[in-house]
Amino acid sequence: MMYKKLFLLSGLVLSLILVGCEFTKKTVNNVNLFTIEDDINLGLQVSQEIANDPKQFPILKEKGNEDVYRYIRKITNKILNSGKVVNRNNFKWQVKIIDDIETLNAFATPGGYIYVYTGLIKYLDSEDQLAGVMGHEIAHADQRHSTKQMTKSGALDLLLSAAIGEKEAVKQVVGGIVGLRFSRTHETEADEYSVRYLCGTDYNAAGAAGFFKKIGGAGSPPEFLSTHPNPDNRVQEIEARAKGMGCRGNSTNKTEYNRIKGLL
Ligand SMILES: [Zn+2]
Repeated sequence: MMYKKLFLLSGLVLSLILVGCEFTKKTVNNVNLFTIEDDINLGLQVSQEIANDPKQFPILKEKGNEDVYRYIRKITNKILNSGKVVNRNNFKWQVKIIDDIETLNAFATPGGYIYVYTGLIKYLDSEDQLAGVMGHEIAHADQRHSTKQMTKSGALDLLLSAAIGEKEAVKQVVGGIVGLRFSRTHETEADEYSVRYLCGTDYNAAGAAGFFKKIGGAGSPPEFLSTHPNPDNRVQEIEARAKGMGCRGNSTNKTEYNRIKGLL
């Protein structure tokens, strides 16, 4: 019955599907019919599609921006080396910066291609805040939320076409991933993992809370500020979790953060 459902669904309804049901049980949220290899292939296809669409995704050139890239990769590596990233050695974990000062966002594809907008870097005040948001995005990739979500929504045929490089399918998947709204369960899980990762570093483990505090209820929410878990509750939950886990890091690295902001 499940397969019947899977193949009846076409890509056209993907956008509707991606909104998803917010009240599904946790177990359903964790079923994944895709393999690790599928996540990797899918991420590769999506990253290539992004690279080929500079109008929508103006990637900041590495040349001339070496300092900024070195900085963002230092943060990423700290998180990846926290000892808490399950797919640390399975996924690519490549970071690119998108040169768009208007957009307060970051996202990660399946398989660990991470994208951070200059608008987000400029907006935040300290390195732990950015690390918190990046930890959240890394968690979505590490916990394979996209393929879990798409398993749940029955987009398996589309995803498999995309994973083998079928162009139209890849395009639809890119659109889906960038605008993806995860389930409440996955959002909460990504917040939890952000704390868990940062707790294994010298950062203030509640860094992600800084972002939610700062943005309050303003503007249209980017992916990691999905409206479902209320921002105030998220701040409390993140801070309580960091405290409960006995995280001792307090590094915020503001001086260096401001220097990097000045380069953008
Ligand atoms: Zn999220």
